[in-house]
This record gives sequence, structure tokens and C-alpha cells, in this order.
Amino acid sequence: MKNLIVGTVLVLICGSTSTGQEAAYGSAERARLLEEEWKDQYRAVDDLRPQIFKGLSAHDAEIANSIDFKVIGGKSQGDQFIPPVATMDDGQRTVIIGQGFLRLLSLFIEEEVYGLKYNKASEVDQHISLVLKQMNENITRQKAGRPLLFVESARTYFHWNAETLKTVTDASDSLFNVNLAFILAHEAGHHVLGHTLLDPKTLTKQQRFIQEEEADKWGANTLIRAGQIPIGAAMSLVLFERMFDAGIDDFHPSNDCREVALIQSSIDSLDEFRSQLEAKGKSVEAVRRDWQRQLAQLREMGNCKNDAQPLQSTAPKEDTVTVTFSAVLRGSNSNLDIANVAAAEFAVTSRGENLVSLANGDSEDVEVRPGRQPFEVVVTLTARQGFTGRVSCKGFMNIREAETAYKLIVRMDSWGNVGSCAVIPDRSQ
Ligand SMILES: [Zn+2]
Repeated sequence: MKNLIVGTVLVLICGSTSTGQEAAYGSAERARLLEEEWKDQYRAVDDLRPQIFKGLSAHDAEIANSIDFKVIGGKSQGDQFIPPVATMDDGQRTVIIGQGFLRLLSLFIEEEVYGLKYNKASEVDQHISLVLKQMNENITRQKAGRPLLFVESARTYFHWNAETLKTVTDASDSLFNVNLAFILAHEAGHHVLGHTLLDPKTLTKQQRFIQEEEADKWGANTLIRAGQIPIGAAMSLVLFERMFDAGIDDFHPSNDCREVALIQSSIDSLDEFRSQLEAKGKSVEAVRRDWQRQLAQLREMGNCKNDAQPLQSTAPKEDTVTVTFSAVLRGSNSNLDIANVAAAEFAVTSRGENLVSLANGDSEDVEVRPGRQPFEVVVTLTARQGFTGRVSCKGFMNIREAETAYKLIVRMDSWGNVGSCAVIPDRSQ
């Protein structure tokens, strides 16, 4: 789903943010950057509010306008990681978002934009996995009062020059605003719809799930009414999904369904944006076809189980190319001692079709469709002590006809935990 970008997003919401990321924890420079970033984020929230909540009914507007939106941050609190939440604070409707969360969102969007614009999707996937792992570790360290790990952004990790930085931030600033707008609207929806009047502890998982769907729907409709197609906000849902996969708590794993619903509501609203799209030289029909293709792709991955009516795939039949796949198992930290693994078998599927089964270190010729394709891999491990374990992970591979060899790299963090996986060109061949 990470290819959901958004060539076609009409960004009508304005604002900007920066990342106060690139200085060591505890340094005076970091405190200064955090303070600046916090003010920028607060400004973005304050600028977006009046743009989002227009055209609401009198009832909804009264509630939305009474909400106190707070960004928790600043020089001493700027590394706090608090995902967005709507709460009642002594009778005051409140929405709280941590500066650290907004920074992660901004960094994530920059990574994804970079991956797409510079054809670095696999490398970006791997770096995001690393960042989330470090963040997860930092949440633990923060609770224990231990020093934090330095989390490097794509800017320095991939050595962006000034031109790359400008290309990426031109696209990612506006995408950040769409995502922030959707988050604010979704949280406001929890207040408008009365969810925050109920004690979440009294609700079943199913009831909370329904609340999330209702808040998404209210948020998407609010953006559409404000003149903003919501599809770009699917990036924040992809981020939630990756956070969930990385073991960062408090998110339920229904994000694929949320993405499906967000794309569907964007498609349904397209006619309302006809004149704006045409003014930008875009054809509504071409945009619709593109989004329907993305929707079909997401549905084919099959992670949205309560989706009763899968669309017929509109993806064109493509010719396949033959590439050599080799399997590589890696331990990404000291939790997994690779030396203890006696054998590892990789079963790789794409769009529900078996692609190849490989043992660690083996290579085989495989027929695949060129382009960006989803894949899923189930790894069965046998330890020297004899017991077995299974892990699975999924990602995208970008198969180019010019490249004929690919490495499938699976990283494990510990037994039974989902690792990350990537398919990248194997240039050693
Ligand atoms: Zn929610």
C-alpha cells in the first residue's frame, strides 16, 4: 500500500513543518531544534483547524470548535512519543498528539516520497524497519529513564544533497498536511460522534472497531467537504500498520480495512473534484482507474478480512520476466543468534500465488511480473536444538527488467517475532 502516492492528490490545505531531528539527544542544539519544531507543529495544527472544519452542520461545528488541540512537546518533552488521542479532560474536549509522533509521521512521509521518487523502495522499507525498531527501544528506555538511541532520518542516512532534499520536501510537506488534517478530523470525529463520553473499558473490541470506522468516515467526509480529497492520508494508516508490525503498542491491526475505506471514499468523491483536477491537467477517469487499481491491489493482498465484496481487479495483465531469487537470513541484533539456526525455508507468495520456495542461501529462477509488486514470505526455522518456529512478513518488491538478480532478505529480531523483509537487486552477481 505504500505506493499510494498520490500523484493525484489535490493539496488544497496549506502549512509547513520542519524536523528538529538531526542533533544528539540531550544537546543544547537538540533542545533548540525541538522547541522550533514544536512551534512549527503547533502552528500547522492551528492553521489547519479553520481549513478543515468548514461546512459542518451547526451541531458538529459547535463541538469541533470547542475542542482543545494540544501538541505535547517543546525542549524538554519533544521526544515524547504520544499517538493522537481524543479525551475528555475535566469536561473539556481535548485532542492530544505528541511531538515525537508527528516527527515520526513527517519522517515516514519523507522516506516514502524518497523511495518512490528515486526508486529506492526496498532500501526505504529496510530503513523504516530500523527506525521503528529504534523507536520501540526508545519508548522502553524513556520509561526506564535510560539514555535514548539516536534515530537517524532518511536525510542523513541516505546522504541527501540539497537538490534531493528540496525535491522530497516539496512533495512531503503538502502530504504531511493532508495526513495531519485527517488525523485532526478523525480525532474530532470521536468527540462529535459522542465516543469520548463512553468509558473505553466498558466497550468490546468490536465496538471500539466500529468507533474507529465511524471516526474515519466522519473525518474523510469532513475533508471532502473542506475541499480536500482524503486519499493521501492513507500514508498515516500505512505508518500505523508498520508501527503495529514493529510491536509499538496500542494500535489495532485493522489498518488495511481503514485504507480500503479511505481510498473508496476518495473514489466516490472524485466527481466533486472534477473541475479542480481538470484545472491541474488531470483526467478524473485516469485518476479513478489509478485508484481503483491500487484498491484492487490492496484487496488482493487479502488483509482486510471483513471486506465482503472484493472488486474485480482492474490491473492489466503484464508479461512476466525471469529473475534469479536468492534467500538471505539475517539477525538484525543480538536477540537472534543466527548460528543457532540449523535451517531456514522461505515460502514466497505474491498476490496469493506461490512464487518460490527456497532454503537459506539457495537461488532459483523465478517468473515474476515487472513493476512494483506486493510479496509475502513465511519463514520456517529449525534451531540446532531441534525446535521449529515460523515467522512471516510482507513488503513490496520493485522488479525492473534491467535487473536479473534479486536478494530476498529476511531480518529476524527474536524467535516467534515478525521480522522485516525486503527484495533488493543483487548487484554482486
Ligand atoms: Zn480513533
